[in-house]
Amino acid sequence: MDIQLAIKEETDSHALSWAIKSPPACLRCGNPSTILSYTRPENPLGNGGRPYYKCPCGEFCCFGDMRGVHSTNPHCYCSDFKLSKRQIAGWNNNQRVPRAIHYVCADGGCDFYDYELDEHGQVRIFQGPILHPEAMARMGF
Ligand SMILES: [Zn+2]
Ligand SMILES: [Zn+2]
Repeated sequence: MDIQLAIKEETDSHALSWAIKSPPACLRCGNPSTILSYTRPENPLGNGGRPYYKCPCGEFCCFGDMRGVHSTNPHCYCSDFKLSKRQIAGWNNNQRVPRAIHYVCADGGCDFYDYELDEHGQVRIFQGPILHPEAMARMGF
């Protein structure tokens, strides 16, 4: 890949492409060889076709693109002050707060998880409909 293009994609929060090229170690079992895969096109959370890393133990590690990574995001726990990734929690009961807008480690290096708060200090809940992946990326997710 062209180096300028590579740099642009690594810093472009709208980039849909595969940007995180080093598989993270699994935070659950420690396995260093997690596997790059792609979400199904019909993903109900607007994540269709996104690259992601998953461990053979079943643990989802992180997405492999730069969607949701913005310079205004909080830093995760990783020691090199990496920016976190903004995303929306799912709807189901497995979620701590369904539809909550939150931040996680962008490249799966730590278990950072922080909510986005509104002007009243309440967890901000995503109110809109889930749109096509490119439209979700333009909204900052
Ligand atoms: Zn694992
Ligand atoms: Zn991290």
